[in-house]
Formats: sequence, C-alpha cells, structure tokens
Amino acid sequence: MIKNISEIGSVNFVSSRRAQRISLTVKADGKIRVAVPKRASMAEAERFVLNKKMWIKRQLNRLAGVDAVANEYAEKIKELDIDEAAAAIAARLQELADEFGFSYNRVTFRNQKTRWGSCSAKNNLSLNIKLALLPAELRDLILVHELVHTRIKNHGPLFWQELENIYPNARELDRRINHLGGLLQIPLS
Ligand SMILES: [Zn+2]
Repeated sequence: MIKNISEIGSVNFVSSRRAQRISLTVKADGKIRVAVPKRASMAEAERFVLNKKMWIKRQLNRLAGVDAVANEYAEKIKELDIDEAAAAIAARLQELADEFGFSYNRVTFRNQKTRWGSCSAKNNLSLNIKLALLPAELRDLILVHELVHTRIKNHGPLFWQELENIYPNARELDRRINHLGGLLQIPLS
C-alpha cells in the first residue's frame, strides 16, 4: 500500500510475513519501502516512518546530491584522458609544492572510490585521477591538503592552521568538496 507522507513523498508499506519488526529502506533510486510484520498495525508503521522523517530526508538529499553531481560530470568523465590528467595534476602538485615550500617523495595516481588523496608515513602521495575534473580551486585545496600532511599526519588544529595560512577559506572549500563526494563513486568508462 502506497501512502503519501508530507515532506518525503510516496512510501510503500509492504505487509511482510517474514519481518520480525517494522523496517525501512531507502533505495538508490529514492524509493522508500517499509516492511510491516503481520502483527503490526498501519498506524504503528506510519508512526515509525514519521519518527524517522529527518533521517529519510537526509538520505533523499544525499541521493539527490549524488545524482546532480553524476549528471553534471557525466560528459567530463567520458572525456577524461587518464595519462593527460595524471600529468596535469602532477605538474600542478609540483607548482604548489614549490610555491609553498613542501616536498614529497613519490606520487601515484589511482581511481579510489572513497578519497581524493592520501599521504603515507614516507610522504608518498596517492592522488585520485578525478582531481582533474574538479574546479581549479578545489583541486588545489586537495593537493595542498595532502602536501600539509607531509608535515602533519593528522587533521588536528595545527593541520588546519597550516592549511588556513595558505587558504584562509579552507573550511568552506572543504565543504564544497564534500558535496562533490558522489563524483568519486562514478565509474570511469
Ligand atoms: Zn587529510
């Protein structure tokens, strides 16, 4: 049975013989399904959904963000030349290192699904090839973030101080990068 719930839209309540308790899933396509055990009432199931409204809205927003990013970057991803991208990022990394007085050991490129970059204990940098798709200021912030890790391995106050010395708006840029997290999930063709 499909019910419309204010602020979250259609919710599919499915009576389930197997379900032990009321449970809710938000699918990747944004569809919301609630499994209702035989002994639970519709009123209970609806109350359950209302209690989880904030969480559901967060999931829907997250999915919408991933979709928007996927649409925005779909063409660019198709056209991405991996060798060219790696060369361009490596060149920009060296420029930034020279400009701000950092040194690193080696740099390798990957297509990680969860991170833009990382810095090892030996100051080897691993960078995501999709950095080449980002707006220049966001790409630079991530490169400098990893360069700061050559001196400070954690994300403590000293790390932020050093990053903000270079980019006073680092936290705002960082939030913008978080919104593009969905881009990491999209496979390279
Ligand atoms: Zn970091």
